[in-house]
Amino acid sequence: MTTISDNLQQVNERLARACALAGRDAQAVTLLAVSKTFGPEAVQQALAAGQHAFGENYIQEGVEKILALRETRPGAAIEWHCIGPIQSNKTRLVAAHFDWVQSVDRVRIAQRLSEQRPTGMAPLQVCLQVNVDGGPTKSGVAPADLTALAEAVAPLPGLRLRGLMCIPEPAAEFEAQRAVFLQARALFDGLNARGFGLDTLSMGMSDDLEAAVAAGSTMVRVGRAVFGSRAAPPEPSTPAAT
Ligand SMILES: *Cc1c(COP(=O)(O)O)cnc(C)c1O
Repeated sequence: MTTISDNLQQVNERLARACALAGRDAQAVTLLAVSKTFGPEAVQQALAAGQHAFGENYIQEGVEKILALRETRPGAAIEWHCIGPIQSNKTRLVAAHFDWVQSVDRVRIAQRLSEQRPTGMAPLQVCLQVNVDGGPTKSGVAPADLTALAEAVAPLPGLRLRGLMCIPEPAAEFEAQRAVFLQARALFDGLNARGFGLDTLSMGMSDDLEAAVAAGSTMVRVGRAVFGSRAAPPEPSTPAAT
């Protein structure tokens, strides 16, 4: 049976190989382990194997895990990233508990997160989610509206704008994957040419991290390849049966 520790080692080897192929430093890409739907024990196993950054999609579930880890591993240096859709009524929880939010795609949500970030905590580190391939049902700001959103978010005092995040439609071929990631890279470079000073381009998951690294990703978000396959995710709008 493979363990989370084995899986992490394999994913880190994939990352190192992808960086080498792209002529990039292996330190240039951070691994975010996406622990959604897995319990606190899975996070503890990954932590014991040297993984320190974790991504959560569902706010309530994520906060419960953050609190559980704070109990069982007090003082552990864990960085928690919110990577899922955020409704207005969840911004306070996110602002109070997460270190990063990668799924900001509206000014109003950013304003609430900034206002609700508790004083005494470091600013919330933020990526703007961009709908790079125009998928109709997905979250993310349209590329045409990205600069205006960045201009509105950058000055908010409770936030620090760090970069972009994208989730393209799955594609089977490496070249097709890379082509979409390169579009995100161009948007990232365009914002930096305007002086935004972004350092984080969050793209690439279990099935396409090599293509993302080839296109300049600085953070890959990997779930299944680290923790194993997931049960179907809960519908955000429907309370889970208990
Ligand atoms: C679930 C999820 C991931 C991880 O996907 P895998 O295919 O399991 O690696 C990454 N990013 C986001 C936003 C996700 O929702």
